[in-house]
Amino acid sequence: MNDYRQIPSVDLIINSPEASPIIANFGRSQVIDAIRAVQESLRQIDKLDRQSCTAEAILIRANLHLQKNFKATLIPLINASGVILHTNLGRAPLSDDSIEAMATIASNYNSLEFDLSTGKRGSRTVHAEKILMQLTGAEAALVVNNNASAILVILSTLAYRRRVIISRSQLIEIGGGFRIPDVMKQSGAKLIEIGTTNRTHLNDYSTALQEPAALVMRAHHSNFKIIGFFAEPNLAEICEAAHTAGVPVLDDLGSGTFLDTAQYGLQHEPTISESLSAGADLVCFSGDKLLGGPQAGIIIGRKQLIDKIKKHPLVRAIRADKLCLAGLTATLNHYLRDEAEQEIPIWKMISRSAEDIQLSAHAWQRTIQHGDVINCRSTIGGGSMPEETLPSYALSFTVRNPDQFVKQLRQFPIPIIARIENEKVLLDPRTVFSVQEEVLCNQIKTLFPE
Ligand SMILES: *Cc1c(COP(=O)(O)O)cnc(C)c1O
Repeated sequence: MNDYRQIPSVDLIINSPEASPIIANFGRSQVIDAIRAVQESLRQIDKLDRQSCTAEAILIRANLHLQKNFKATLIPLINASGVILHTNLGRAPLSDDSIEAMATIASNYNSLEFDLSTGKRGSRTVHAEKILMQLTGAEAALVVNNNASAILVILSTLAYRRRVIISRSQLIEIGGGFRIPDVMKQSGAKLIEIGTTNRTHLNDYSTALQEPAALVMRAHHSNFKIIGFFAEPNLAEICEAAHTAGVPVLDDLGSGTFLDTAQYGLQHEPTISESLSAGADLVCFSGDKLLGGPQAGIIIGRKQLIDKIKKHPLVRAIRADKLCLAGLTATLNHYLRDEAEQEIPIWKMISRSAEDIQLSAHAWQRTIQHGDVINCRSTIGGGSMPEETLPSYALSFTVRNPDQFVKQLRQFPIPIIARIENEKVLLDPRTVFSVQEEVLCNQIKTLFPE
């Protein structure tokens, strides 16, 4: 039998000198709880030894327990995967201006819903919307929480219990279980599928439009590509058919870009202004994909429709918060000033030359003294531009167990995310910020002891 009386009391432990730094770190009540948990686990042991029953030993265990408990799970990391818009790694990192704008608004009272000229209640919707209208030439704009909620509120407002026509080739799943047909059903819209998986023709639209409909929807194929025997009418043709029947068109652009991706050797991604000039009545897209801003869902288009949407009760539930509006406005300003390529991180990465990346890869190799510099391709990612890649260079490691090696990279204090290709571990400098390069090299050096 054990003599559990040898376990010191909470009072005695908490008042011992070793306890004070731990209390300073985690607070008294947290330390008491942790001590109690350790005491309880000691009582479960059949053969108690004296050393583990000292106040000091109990505090060491309590401290470890608390450190684990307080460890943040949302932490920064180094993305050396070469995937620019990595959905699991937080999509677009923000520009300095956007971060500053968000920090300023976060730490101050502000004019979120206050009209300084009248001293009365103002509208939060004005902040990012004016600049969106200026940039796109659209009659009206609305910013909500993300693009999924933008689609939900558009359909809920305009198509509840009414027909929405969409091509079968566009009934996509984006990832994380987000499926266009499910969102459509959730809104109460009646989904009218037309055409086939690989081919939809203009007369499929005209036939469906013979009965009354609320909306024709076009969705970007997002992260997949149909090749081979494939056809879809273009947006202008769809708009013409819909407008002839008096039905408005919603274009879900997904990523939404202001810049022409073709100038970087990528396939041409439909731009926001192209959707508008093709005749789309509403266009929606994400704030944190190719736009390169904070998470947001942006709706632009005809004022009459957007005014209606603004009155829907869902808008309150999915509204953008003050930090998003501040950050988004700053990001949009970069486009207005024609400095996106210089200021917005994802466009800096997309436009960075392979030669420049090669220089970084060689510099890493010289510092780490291991690995080979090889050709590779960086990916755009983020549910945009499937298969589209940019020529790049990587520092490549040939190791016995690549899975084990990338796991070690993930376990650093600042985790490094690499990718495995042809049994090699690749680190692509395109997605690594220059301020992270020193840490990256220092951490990796520890894997190769002299
Ligand atoms: C990414 C995407 C969405 C969802 O956007 P979120 O901002 O992630 O909610 C919707 N439609 C398409 C076509 C997309 O690519």
